[in-house]
Amino acid sequence: MKTVLVTGGSRGIGKAIVEKFAKNGYNVILNYNKSLEAAQKIENEFKNIKIFKADVTNRKEVQAMIDYTNSIFGEIDILINNAGTGCTGLLQDITVEEWQDVFNVNMNGVFNCTQIVLPQMLKKHCGKIINISSIWGMVGASCEVAYSASKAAVIGFTKALAKEIGPSGITVNAIAPGIIMTDMVSQYTLEEFEDIRNQIPLGEIGSTIDIANAVFFLASEEANYITGQIISPNGGWVI
Ligand code: NAP
Repeated sequence: MKTVLVTGGSRGIGKAIVEKFAKNGYNVILNYNKSLEAAQKIENEFKNIKIFKADVTNRKEVQAMIDYTNSIFGEIDILINNAGTGCTGLLQDITVEEWQDVFNVNMNGVFNCTQIVLPQMLKKHCGKIINISSIWGMVGASCEVAYSASKAAVIGFTKALAKEIGPSGITVNAIAPGIIMTDMVSQYTLEEFEDIRNQIPLGEIGSTIDIANAVFFLASEEANYITGQIISPNGGWVI
């Protein structure tokens, strides 16, 4: 059975991804950072899920997580870089610490996990890496410059790495979700959600399952010829 590592699997989109793979019989490592109780609750529901606490910005913790995964389930077949954080405000108002925190989690976390997992994929000449970007990494969002820039960096990383390791049999793709109902968008008011819904051709705010389904497809053998692509489940909001 294949082994998948999902970063930020304790809540929101990551939780839906973890559950999708677990229901389909994969061995799943659910990475969390702060949400221990939420992670334990998911682990208790499935025999094939193990949880591991690691801050993706901390290389030692990421290395420990990869070592733990290898000791429990063997080599990692699929890496899903989902952990992410937001930052809203005018560019002139955000602090240097806020800027660095967003890049540390959203981009450096992807780099840390990918670079540490990569040798085992290169050795067996196969593997799938899926990074969670955002529509804002594609088109930019006002008052989310740091977030948009970090998610655009993830897109550049995805495309460049796909070219670099395609010859080694490894695919690298990104999902760029539109607006998805999770804690990350809890700052929006009902009126703001209604306004956004009216701008979306399919007329719905996205659900975490919509993203889990797209990730699951990219991780499957049916997507073997797809690499370096940015798939954007967004209800037609950004085309
Ligand atoms: P969320 O509900 O806020 O969950 C964020 C997840 O990331 C949590 O599981 C959290 O773990 C984890 N995380 C944060 N910092 C971490 C760190 N330093 N180390 C390890 N894990 C960390 O967010 P979400 O909406 O599900 O977002 C998931 C991904 O989708 C993010 O990359 C986000 O940018 C992207 N995205 C979301 C939307 C949207 O509308 N929701 C749209 C486009 C893209 P703990 O709670 O355990 O700390």
